[in-house]
Order: sequence, then C-alpha cells, then structure tokens
Amino acid sequence: MFLNHFEYFAPKTPAETLELASRLGNKAKILAGGTDLLIMMKEKLIKPECLIDINEVQEFKGISYEPGKGAVIGAAVKISEIEHSELIREKYFALYQAAGELGSVQVRCMATIGGNSCHASPAAETPTPLIALGAKVVIESISGTREMPLEEFILGNRITALKEGEILTKFILPEPAKKSASRYAYIGLRDAMEIDAVNMAVNMVLDDDGRTIKDLKLVMGSVSPRPIVSAEVPGMLVGKEFSSELVEKAAVAASGEAKPISDIRASAEYRREMVVVLTRRLLKEAFDAVRGV
Ligand SMILES: Cc1cc2nc3c(=O)[nH]c(=O)nc-3n(C[C@H](O)[C@H](O)[C@H](O)COP(=O)(O)OP(=O)(O)OC[C@H]3O[C@@H](n4cnc5c(N)ncnc54)[C@H](O)[C@@H]3O)c2cc1C
Repeated sequence: MFLNHFEYFAPKTPAETLELASRLGNKAKILAGGTDLLIMMKEKLIKPECLIDINEVQEFKGISYEPGKGAVIGAAVKISEIEHSELIREKYFALYQAAGELGSVQVRCMATIGGNSCHASPAAETPTPLIALGAKVVIESISGTREMPLEEFILGNRITALKEGEILTKFILPEPAKKSASRYAYIGLRDAMEIDAVNMAVNMVLDDDGRTIKDLKLVMGSVSPRPIVSAEVPGMLVGKEFSSELVEKAAVAASGEAKPISDIRASAEYRREMVVVLTRRLLKEAFDAVRGV
C-alpha cells in the first residue's frame, strides 16, 4: 500500500495553481482532501508524478451568499463545513442533508465538495442535490474561465468535462425560489459508512395557491454512470395540483427512467424499486416543507 514517488506542490494563490496545472498537465493530479485520490494511488490505479495541493489557496475556500443572487461555494470547502453551515441548512437543505451522510466525521473533515464532483463516482453524495438546486461549476485554467451546469460537468463514471490544465474552482447556487423546498435521501445496505445503492434529490416550487407545482427538479444518483435528471416527473407534475395519485404515477415514471446495474451493493431490480420509494417520499417531504407542515 505504498504510494509511488511524486513531487509535491502547495501553491498559495490561484495564479500559481493554474500555472502549475498548465505546466505539469497530465503528469499532475489535484490534491484536495485526498480521500479518493490517495486510495487510488495506494491501490496503484493511478501513479501521478506530481500532486498539486490546493488546500492553502484561500480563494478556493469559503461559502458566501448574496441575498437575491445566491451562494458561492469554493471547490476546496470541506464537507464538514457544508454540514455545519447555517446558510446551507436554511437555503439549500438537500445539500445540507447529503453532506451529513457522506462517509464518517473523519472523512467529512478531509473530503471537499469539489473532490466529490471531480471524482465523479456514480454513487457520490453531493452532485445529486447540487444538480437539483441548479448548481453551476466554475472551471479555470491559464487560458480563462468557463461555467457550466453540474449535470453537464459529470460525463460518466469517473469522467468529467475537465480538460488538461483545468481546475474546478467553485460552485454557484442560485437563490432559492419563493415557496420552494429541497430534500435529499439515500438507500444503502446498512446505516454506517455504506456507499449509496440509490440516492435522490428533489427541488420543488409551488404556486401562490400552495398546491399547484410551479417547478420541479428530481435527480437520481447511483442508478446510472452519471446523475439522471428526470424529464418525465416534472412533465407529469408541473402545472398540476399535488395529489397522492400523481405522486404514485411519478414514482413509477422515475423508476422507468433509471438505468441501474446489479452489483455488490444491490440488484438492478431492487434499485428500481427504491427509486419508487424515494420519489414518493421526497415529493411528499418537499411538498410538506414548502407548505411549512
Ligand atoms: C472511508 C470513506 C468513506 C467514504 N464515503 C463516501 C460517501 O458516503 N459518499 C461519497 O460521496 N463519497 C464517499 N467517499 C469518497 C470521498 O470521500 C468523496 O468523494 C470526497 O468528496 C472526495 O473529495 P476529496 O477532497 O477527498 O477529493 P480528492 O481525493 O482530493 O480528489 C478526488 C479526485 O478529484 C480531483 N480533484 C479534487 N479537487 C479538484 C478540483 N478542485 N479541481 C480539479 N480536480 C480536482 C483529484 O485530482 C482526484 O482525481 C468516502 C471515502 C472514504 C475513504
């Protein structure tokens, strides 16, 4: 379980980081919390010649919020900071819930929100709520900056849109709509530190009448190589009054959209059934939360 020899860099500014990322290219890996990277190195799945540790770059850290505009979360923000942020709990509840479910206390104190999306595991905890909440990622290199929705950033199992020399620097979350609520849940095989068999996040907006669904985003994780944004569930529910019958139909539709595999954690059949369970549960929870029930 020894690591290969590598050259270690700890830049202090974004400019220094981007210069290193450009100069070292594919020879280097970004080191954030190391909770995925170092395991892959120990298992000899990758042997980077250089590591660029981004933990000393203040600009990649911190959570800020501007009323009416939304929040910006630095890529190197630890999951534990998100879990304990009053702002995230108040405004972006599904993300707060997911952060509290990632690994153990020790893992959450090391792991970063950026690393979770950049590793792009199909079972990752935070991309699902981030996508439901409309998060965009900011990607930087010495050539410039680009932004894209997170659902376009994660392309497959451990595949992202990052090109050589690029770094994910922050997430931008829009201001939550009035009369909206988000919820997250997962199903795993046991309660402690398991990898999710299925996870899901819902972000629901209601009309002024407090019954009609004005907008809805439902995202499923661990049922495909990348998070699935449901097209059918919003198609069935938006513009309609919330009802148990509609929720049942939506749950079956979501299950039809999932593309699960059978593996060590769950069979495809079980995962499909759990999509039904989570859809039903989260739609009801989000609806009740908007109405303050
Ligand atoms: C015991 C244990 C339990 C775990 N449980 C869970 C769990 O329940 N749910 C879950 O989702 N995950 C879990 N994980 C996985 C891991 O903790 C998370 O994926 C974590 O968020 C990764 O973040 P990191 O900062 O440690 O990333 P790192 O390991 O530092 O990096 C991961 C990858 O992303 C790249 N990278 C990191 N940051 C950037 C950036 N800003 N720009 C470009 N590339 C970057 C790295 O080069 C590397 O390829 C667990 C891990 C362990 C060891």
